[in-house]
Amino acid sequence: MKGQEDVTLDGRKIMLYCNIGSPEDVTAVLSNDGQGIGLFRSEFLYLASDDYPSEEDQFQAYKEVVTAMEGKRVVIRTLDIGADKQVDYFELQKEENPALGVRAIRICLNRPEVFRTQLRALYRASAYGKVAIMFPMITSVWEVKECKRACQKVMAELDAEGVPYRKDTEIGIMIETPASILVAEELAKEVDFFSVGTNDLTQYTLACDRQANDLGKFFDPHHPAVLRALKIAADAAHKAGIWIGICGELGADLSLLETFLAIGIDELSVSPASVLPLRAQIRQAIARTCTLELLEC
Ligand code: PEP
Ligand code: MG
Repeated sequence: MKGQEDVTLDGRKIMLYCNIGSPEDVTAVLSNDGQGIGLFRSEFLYLASDDYPSEEDQFQAYKEVVTAMEGKRVVIRTLDIGADKQVDYFELQKEENPALGVRAIRICLNRPEVFRTQLRALYRASAYGKVAIMFPMITSVWEVKECKRACQKVMAELDAEGVPYRKDTEIGIMIETPASILVAEELAKEVDFFSVGTNDLTQYTLACDRQANDLGKFFDPHHPAVLRALKIAADAAHKAGIWIGICGELGADLSLLETFLAIGIDELSVSPASVLPLRAQIRQAIARTCTLELLEC
């Protein structure tokens, strides 16, 4: 399957990308012929360190990945800690319900200096390839507008300093809360792409803790509520003329490929080892005849 196009028998092209958690994972992306990186979890920089990572350290890590991908899209997600990912030096308050607490974008919007440092590193890395910046755990349009203002500010700083970066760097958001589904049309007008985090979307839609081991069949990513949420987000994205992908675990679920094609998903971002089996299945599918059957209860 290496070197083959990610296209169905009837010509529907899918962007088949990879999820990575550190620059070392790029080797596996390249050896499995991933066509881009759909989710680079930037947390490793924060989790592996005992103090805030500097702009320079972050820049070097992002640049390494972007350079190795040679112009292919690299979607880098801004800091997503809190909940299951705790970092001591952030001194986050102990919370009764951390998954519903100050996590991910909420931390960045509460701590503009931490956010600014990461955004500067990301924009500087954009000069070396095709970076896309993605914000996690979005629930509201005002959050996206604030993120975009932070980006504008960083770009103005880099302009003033004469530091190179790409002005057309794409900005996207993760769709992983029910609120983001319900306001998807408004969110789609603000960004260049959506990427659905089905791990969290399942957790929040079904009110099922993704960390709990004993929820059994209650934690069901195939639940019609989750799949219908995907369809609502896809319709909103396409209405606004932007692309939509899936970067949660569900993206690699071969039994759902037809459903994803029917929903209109444009990109699947999966672990490097899942790329070639998924490609084989995409190349045997006929998108035109795929049905939305699984959306039924
Ligand atoms: C998700 O929620 O599906 C996702 C991709 O993000 P994470 O698993 O890192 O929360
Ligand atoms: Mg998530």
